[in-house]
Amino acid sequence: MNAPTVSFEFFPPQNLEASFRLWDTVQTLAPLDPSFVSVTYGAGGTTRDLTRDAVATLHKSSGLNVAAHLTCVNATREETLAIARDFAEAGVREIVALRGDAPKGQDRFTAMAGGFANSLELIEALAATGDFKIRVGAYPDRHPEAASARADIDWLKAKLDAGASEAITQFFFEADTFFRFRDDCAAAGITAPIIPGILPIESWKGTRNFAKRCGTKVPAWMEDAFDKAERDGRSDLLATAICTELCSELIDGGAPALHFYTLNRPELTRDVCHALGVTPKLELQNVA
Ligand code: FAD
Repeated sequence: MNAPTVSFEFFPPQNLEASFRLWDTVQTLAPLDPSFVSVTYGAGGTTRDLTRDAVATLHKSSGLNVAAHLTCVNATREETLAIARDFAEAGVREIVALRGDAPKGQDRFTAMAGGFANSLELIEALAATGDFKIRVGAYPDRHPEAASARADIDWLKAKLDAGASEAITQFFFEADTFFRFRDDCAAAGITAPIIPGILPIESWKGTRNFAKRCGTKVPAWMEDAFDKAERDGRSDLLATAICTELCSELIDGGAPALHFYTLNRPELTRDVCHALGVTPKLELQNVA
């Protein structure tokens, strides 16, 4: 197996301590030479400023190719496009364009008056600027709001046809889930790369709750395995083994790259990357 192409997702820091954690994460993962790193985008005004600042600082200081996430939540079209312009002016030319989830306290996404009604409208507007490479979200376990698996894939195709060039998936736990989805996408005429999103399991309890909210199916064997590993204090080992095996199967089965949801905790992602043969580029240069 050749070492795969990898990319990493971070979230913007909310305080000074979190800023140090993000920088530590970047320092640990940057030597693995990711094709890009991305920064998530929150629902409120303050977290948006943090995304904007984190994106600009990472772009300026890390030398990495940075992609900014952008959503339709709680903003007019003009406000959202002004943020996109800020990204472009900071030199950031890649956007992960999303509808976004409802902010805390609301149970469904509702478009704001004068705001983008859905991700498709956002993608069209971003594509019309000609400034960005656009990636979108995709859902191998099916998005909880999709009318059917087929409708979900038709919607993904519409997003790609509207000007996006790649899709990154929500996390999932079994390689077959991804392969089935990829094949269904191909049968529906989707030719753009679909990059699996990988969530290394830092905390089993947290991951299980998150999976429930996202509609990601949790296989029974994982419940059993983590119950036993937690009892024996070996969850980290199990998480590394499970994630490495999933990634190997995905790459062997033709996945074009791997996108890691790091949660700003670099160790597990780093260990899995090393196991997959993604080793620090600087060390290799030093050896040569
Ligand atoms: P869409 O694909 O637009 O919609 C989700 C599903 O709903 C579709 O698959 C489709 O089945 C159905 N649907 C929606 N509208 C229609 C329509 N008009 N007609 C038919 N079907 C429709 N959230 C954040 O808040 N910030 C982030 O930074 C962030 N980053 C993410 C990164 C990735 C890679 C992924 C996969 C998700 C991310 N999310 C983020 C979560 C995301 O915002 C939620 O999953 C949200 O519920 C859907 O966003 P989307 O753009 O994928 O939605």
